[in-house]
Amino acid sequence: MENLSVAGTGLSNARVVRQTLLTEVPLNLVFFGPPGAGKGTQADRFAERHGIPKISTGDMLRKAVAEGTRVGVLVRETLQAGALVGDDLIISLVAERLEEPDTMNGFVLDGFPRTIPQAAALDAMLADRGGVRVIALVVHADEVIRRLATRGREDDDAYVIKERLAVYSRETEPVLEFYRRRNAVTILDGNRPMAEVSVAIEAAVGEREGRTA
Ligand code: ADP
Repeated sequence: MENLSVAGTGLSNARVVRQTLLTEVPLNLVFFGPPGAGKGTQADRFAERHGIPKISTGDMLRKAVAEGTRVGVLVRETLQAGALVGDDLIISLVAERLEEPDTMNGFVLDGFPRTIPQAAALDAMLADRGGVRVIALVVHADEVIRRLATRGREDDDAYVIKERLAVYSRETEPVLEFYRRRNAVTILDGNRPMAEVSVAIEAAVGEREGRTA
């Protein structure tokens, strides 16, 4: 590789080379798992460490509700009931977000795709952007219920939790199979402490980067 000029950037040569590689192989990730798997927290940490945006559809929808936007008014009751909002709506929100320039070197999706049509739409969005890698966190059902019960979000009451878990196994688990068939999934044990799960995620992604770079 030719000598890269790093004067004035404050970056080491190694860092610049790494950034060049990342530009060629964007870190497009989906963090996958049931409600309470810890994927939101892990996605936050991972995104911060790697300087890429975290895109959480749940956060986007809750923000819309809090701000009383047109979308917020449409989805408020759906969120409260623990049901999924319509594919067309969520797909267009994500498509718009993935057009932002900060996503071009990679991103972490949290909470999307949650249905097969959403996964197919994501494929289309990323057709010329390197596709995605899925990190799936597997957690025992009783641990999920324990975690959600202590979290205290508005849609975390016992009845709504039950509904969200049912929706997860009916609508969302098939998405994992969709990605497994193309060998795009790493399954990790999400029952372990947060810090251990973070290390396992870094190892899984690093291994992948090493192979493709
Ligand atoms: P959790 O990880 O606890 O399931 P999220 O914050 O990801 O919660 O999502 C909260 C709610 O937002 C969901 O129960 C659903 O109503 C809605 N939602 C989020 N993402 C999607 C999506 N991709 N498709 C449809 N609905 C979604």
